[in-house]
Amino acid sequence: MRGWRLKCTQCGAEWILNVSFRLNEMGKIYHYCPKCRENSFHEVVDKV
Ligand SMILES: [Zn+2]
Repeated sequence: MRGWRLKCTQCGAEWILNVSFRLNEMGKIYHYCPKCRENSFHEVVDKV
């Protein structure tokens, strides 16, 4: 396992966040989106 696939709820971009803790238990994640270039809410798509 490398991390989690996150989907930005603002622009729809999917990207990989390389952390090992259980993000899926947190619900929506407020994180920097590389495409929006600002912080936005993300959904956890799946484990990668
Ligand atoms: Zn975005």
